[in-house]
Amino acid sequence: MIPVMRPWLGADEAAAAAEAVSSGWVAQGPRVAEFEEAFASATGAAHAVAVSSCTAALHLALVAAGIGPGDEVVVPSLSFIATANAARYAGAAPVFADVDETTQNLTPATVEPCLTRWTRAVILVDQAGVPADLDALRALCGHRGITVVEDAACAVGSVYRGRPAGAGAGLAAFSFHPRKLLTTGEGGMLVTSDESVAARLRRLREHGMDLSAAARHASRQPVTEHYLELGFNFRMTDIQAAIGLVQLRKLGALIARRRALAQRYQRLLARVPGIRTITDPAYGTTNYQSFWVLLPDGFPVSRDELLRRLAEAGVSARRGIMAAHLEPAYAGLAHRPLPVTELLTSRTLILPLFHDLTEAEQELVVSVLRAAAQHPAARDEARAAAGSS
Ligand SMILES: *Cc1c(COP(=O)(O)O)cnc(C)c1O
Repeated sequence: MIPVMRPWLGADEAAAAAEAVSSGWVAQGPRVAEFEEAFASATGAAHAVAVSSCTAALHLALVAAGIGPGDEVVVPSLSFIATANAARYAGAAPVFADVDETTQNLTPATVEPCLTRWTRAVILVDQAGVPADLDALRALCGHRGITVVEDAACAVGSVYRGRPAGAGAGLAAFSFHPRKLLTTGEGGMLVTSDESVAARLRRLREHGMDLSAAARHASRQPVTEHYLELGFNFRMTDIQAAIGLVQLRKLGALIARRRALAQRYQRLLARVPGIRTITDPAYGTTNYQSFWVLLPDGFPVSRDELLRRLAEAGVSARRGIMAAHLEPAYAGLAHRPLPVTELLTSRTLILPLFHDLTEAEQELVVSVLRAAAQHPAARDEARAAAGSS
């Protein structure tokens, strides 16, 4: 089977992990600090705080923003479920907004109808790697005192108005799950422009302690730590950070290869009538974290039937981005129609895209879509013609 994603990991990552193990320091320590610094400089962020996952990062971002019970957090339903879950972990109510059909992201037009006097935050997702229009959202939210958190789980290395995605955000969260472009096995990163927020995030990820374990270890005097507020254990390990440091050096190559493969898909699929694909927004570039295609109204084959045909041909594709409001965990929690979300989640699929995908593999994927796009009658005629020749 051609997988939908395969991480680009090699001997260098294995050696870096082994070195961390041999050093005897495997929990959050010097390598995490080094990874944070390297990540901040690679993404143009002022401060980076490593955590155990992007889900944990989103949860911490809301806690740091003071979100709690009685508050509403506007989120897209069209996202991985962790986006909406983060609001509930903080004790707040997620409010589902619809998305733009081209970028699959929230916009001021989709968010504004959801704002109430209880709205305290909006989680803006850079869906599939396409950066959302942060400045436009900020213009809507800033003067209302609403915090904008950027869920950049998919967007490492995407570009928003000339800067890396997340660089301009008050709070942005990244994921290093292997389904994402850059991986540490599990892991996440929060970036922020505010030094005091960064200090609070470091404390919150480590049980609310006023002294990190690394700082206590380094001290020659006996020191007593204090617990200043309710915190969490959301630490990353030094083994993960060692892998992340190697992966980060490959980021430029990863993105260049992905964009070349995505452009090749776009050229090949341009000949399949009616199909629309993920593309760069007007104000930036995507890292093509997930290569989605949208089937047009009246496509001869349903999305799920197309997924079955791809599987038969040895291609592991996936349904498009999920819609949280359609899942049992969120039954009854959508308070307005979400027509674009429902269209996109039912008619999009995600094609395999990873660093060492071959051109032959891409052609196989496209050939299944091309065959499906032919009207059944045309296809039968083509088959008959092929059989009679
Ligand atoms: C993957 C993903 C997450 C969760 O990331 P983890 O690191 O697995 O917790 C959150 N939001 C979005 C949009 C994602 O794609």
